Amino acid sequence: MRAGKGKPYSLQLDLSEELGPESSLHIHHQNSCLSGRVWCIRDVCGVFCVFFTWLLILYAEFVVVRVILYSHPSKLFAVIHGLIFQGLAFLAVSSHLRTMLTDPGAVPKGNATKENIQRMGFEEGQVIFKCPKCCSIKPERAHHCSVCQRCIRKMDHHCPWVNNCIGEQNQKFFVLFTFYIGLISYHSLFLGIHHFITCIHGDWKTCTVYSPPATVVFILFLLFEGLLFALFTSIMFGTQVSAIWYDETGIESLKKEEAKWVRKSRWKSIQAVFGRFSISWFSPFSALPGTHGKTHGYLFSV
Ligand SMILES: [Zn+2]
Ligand SMILES: [Zn+2]
Repeated sequence: MRAGKGKPYSLQLDLSEELGPESSLHIHHQNSCLSGRVWCIRDVCGVFCVFFTWLLILYAEFVVVRVILYSHPSKLFAVIHGLIFQGLAFLAVSSHLRTMLTDPGAVPKGNATKENIQRMGFEEGQVIFKCPKCCSIKPERAHHCSVCQRCIRKMDHHCPWVNNCIGEQNQKFFVLFTFYIGLISYHSLFLGIHHFITCIHGDWKTCTVYSPPATVVFILFLLFEGLLFALFTSIMFGTQVSAIWYDETGIESLKKEEAKWVRKSRWKSIQAVFGRFSISWFSPFSALPGTHGKTHGYLFSV
């Protein structure tokens, strides 16, 4: 593998050294639900943030559909914008679920056993990295996440809003999540401002099903939410796209790590996350991106 100076969670493993009992394979349920069939993180803060995210989306749904479009004077306007908003909201929620329930690229726990290492054909004295926390052989660019309690390949960051790590296998869905949330935020901002302008020139009473003060409060909150998330998701989307473009994860750029890995060309790097260019780039229902580049199948087979 590679030789190098000690990194926070890495240690040199000498094959002559006997591994302790903690190295045996443990079955942990920190990151699985439905008897291990679905990847999910059991983190109270994360679960709270996920429900809060859904609540915010539901609130926007309510204001856009019930307060703004339902009583809109133009039915054609209401139907067209209703369909656009519903479509984007559906894609945003689907991307959210897909990001949350996809294994971000966890390295098998406790695979750093002497037998395993020997089976993999490493020679005596060869330097490999082992994570002392989950006792796994750490592939290049993997980092340990203390919330997921696992080492994650190409870990970018742990995001409580999706209650999961963003890593090699779910980064695409996360980018789509920020993209669609950004779009519904801009759309809500447009609808909210448009409704204000339309109603201020007409009669507020025929403009909404609720009382004018209630409508104003509903729309003001929607505008506030829309502005906040339009900014937040745009920044996040830009950061993610630039991280993919330069083939450098959030952690690597934070630590200002020297690139020991071979940087992919820009287009290759984007394809590694999104696959070949097609309409499926925008779909949260597409298959998981395969293992690209050098495969270390044995590292993940345990
Ligand atoms: Zn680890
Ligand atoms: Zn994590």
